Amino acid sequence: MTASAEALADAFGRAAALLAGADSVAVLTGAGISTDSGIPDFRGPQGVWTRDPAAERRSNITTYIADPQVRRDAWRIRAESAMFSAAPNEGHRALTHLGDRLHTLVTQNIDGLHLQAGTPADRLVEIHGTVHRWECVDCGARGPMEEALERVRSGEVDPPCPICGGIMKSATILFGQSLVAADLARAERAAAEAEVLLAIGTSLSVFPVAGMVPIAVTAGRPVIIVNAQPTEMDELAEVVLQGSATELLPALIP
Ligand code: NAD
Ligand code: ZN
Repeated sequence: MTASAEALADAFGRAAALLAGADSVAVLTGAGISTDSGIPDFRGPQGVWTRDPAAERRSNITTYIADPQVRRDAWRIRAESAMFSAAPNEGHRALTHLGDRLHTLVTQNIDGLHLQAGTPADRLVEIHGTVHRWECVDCGARGPMEEALERVRSGEVDPPCPICGGIMKSATILFGQSLVAADLARAERAAAEAEVLLAIGTSLSVFPVAGMVPIAVTAGRPVIIVNAQPTEMDELAEVVLQGSATELLPALIP
């Protein structure tokens, strides 16, 4: 074995032992767990923002409300999005092997793939919301996204809310919007309470969610990071596994 292969094998062994020995595991996932399901991340080499910086405007609540062109673009992109036909991969499925040892799975993803893979809804926090529902910015009405996409496909380029005529968006948290306080509290509690925190496929650069890592460390809990590239918080982790979540997770959580 080369020195780097030996180092990876050693890190893998330590991570597997930490996970096998824990009665409760908190998990934080980001866009990287879903790239092998065909959904690009934001900041990886093929990331949406890496390739098209203008895309960031569609993720901002102020520009979304102020600029009808931003909304028309957003609806057109939603109507064509790979997110609605994507299926969970081996990484999502491996996390279901934690069974009752899963304390809480906090995902920054809005693609719904953890639910589809079978993670129980009562242990899942979709902290940035879900694309599978729409919501009205003005009256708060919500409904299934498919309803809204049908309207877009039949020619409504920026469909108004069916209840109040206001601005509709996907039920996701855009930049400039606050998280749901109860969801954030659950995430922070999970980081402090679970015996181990496993962070997967996230650059750990979006706050306050990334704050789960320092919270775990402060509470004396080891953190395992699985990511294709270095993250903002590698130096806080007990173990860093650089590689593919789809390959590593089935081996880590058999
Ligand atoms: P990010 O784009 O900042 O980071 C993703 C990280 O995953 C990168 O560091 C990348 O190197 C790594 N990665 C990519 N493919 C991987 C793989 N197969 N295995 C292991 N690592 C891999 O994503 P983030 O930290 O989640 O933050 C971005 C924000 O974007 C989130 O808040 C989320 O709401 C949103 N987002 C969601 C989706 C989705 O729902 N699938 C997709 C894009 C962005
Ligand atoms: Zn409304």
